Amino acid sequence: MELKLFFLGSSCSAPTKGRNLTSIALQFKGKVFLFDCAEGTQQQMMKADVSYMKIDSIFFSHFHADHFLGLPGLLATMNMYERDTKLKIFGPKYIEQKVELALKLAGLKPDFDIECIELRKGVVFREKDFHIEAFPVEHGVRCFGFVFKEEDKLGKFMREKAIALGVPIGPLFAKLQEGKEVRVGSKIVKPEQVMDYNKGRRGRKVSIVLDTRASDSYIKYIAESDILVHEAVFASDLMDRAIETFHSTAKEAAEIAKKAKCKRLYLTHFSTRYKSVKQLLEEAKEVFKETYIGRDLLVLNLPLNPEERIVKK
Ligand SMILES: [Zn+2]
Ligand SMILES: [Zn+2]
Repeated sequence: MELKLFFLGSSCSAPTKGRNLTSIALQFKGKVFLFDCAEGTQQQMMKADVSYMKIDSIFFSHFHADHFLGLPGLLATMNMYERDTKLKIFGPKYIEQKVELALKLAGLKPDFDIECIELRKGVVFREKDFHIEAFPVEHGVRCFGFVFKEEDKLGKFMREKAIALGVPIGPLFAKLQEGKEVRVGSKIVKPEQVMDYNKGRRGRKVSIVLDTRASDSYIKYIAESDILVHEAVFASDLMDRAIETFHSTAKEAAEIAKKAKCKRLYLTHFSTRYKSVKQLLEEAKEVFKETYIGRDLLVLNLPLNPEERIVKK
C-alpha cells in the first residue's frame, strides 16, 4: 500500500520568496490527512499533485497564525467544488470555535458536514490498517505532535493448515493470529504451526512535530519512526532565541531523532532569516547523519520494508 508524504512548505512565521509556510500532507489508501493548514496550502497541494478534495481529516497542532490561516480559504474552495463528504477537523481545545470563526470569516455555510474533534493525548483516529496518535509538545501554548502508524503484521495466517489441524473456524483463528496457543480437543495448536512469520512486516511510522521546544518528553511517542519531520527554526548560535520562543535548533532536532532511534529526519519550519538552510543541515548532520531538508514540494514515497520481518512477538 502506497504511503506518500508531501512537504507543502518549510517556513516559520511568514512565507519567504522561496518557502511557503509549513504544512504536511500524508496520503494513504486514497485518503489525504493534512497536518496544519497554513496560508498557501491549497496552491502548494496542487503543485505537489495531492488533491485537497481528498482530504479526509485535518489535524491542527496549535492555533498560531502560521499554522492555521489556510483554513477559511480551503473550506471555501471545498464548498465551491461541491464537496459532499464529511470533513473531520482535529485540534486543541476550542477547535470548534476556531472553525466557526473561519467559516464566519469566509462568509460560508458549507454544504458538507464538518466534525470538530478536540485533541487529547492518545490515539485520535483509527482505521483497520493504521492509526494516528496525538501527543503533547512544549510550545508555550497547548500544542500537539502526531504519529501516523501503520499496524504491524505479525505474519500470514495459513487457514488451510489450521483447518487441517482440526481448529474450528471461528474465534480460535483470531487467537492464533494474535500469537496465542489454542487447545483443540486434547492437543495444543501453536501459532507457529499456522502462521508464516516470514510474511510479517513492521508497519511504517511517520512522526510530525511542527512547533516545539526540543525535549525528551515526547521521545517515547516518536521512537523508531521511519520518518521524523521536526521543526528546526534556528541554527545553534540562536539557541537563546529558541529557548525564549519555544522552538528548536536544527542540532537539537537531530539529537531528538538520534535519541528516538528514528531512521530519517526531515527538518522544516525555518526562520525567515535564513535564505539558505545549509548551515542548519550541516549542524544537524554532525549529530544525525540521516538528516534531510523537508524542502517545499518534496514528495516522499515510503516503501514497505520487506527486510524488517517481525518474528513472533
Ligand atoms: Zn510555527
Ligand atoms: Zn507556534
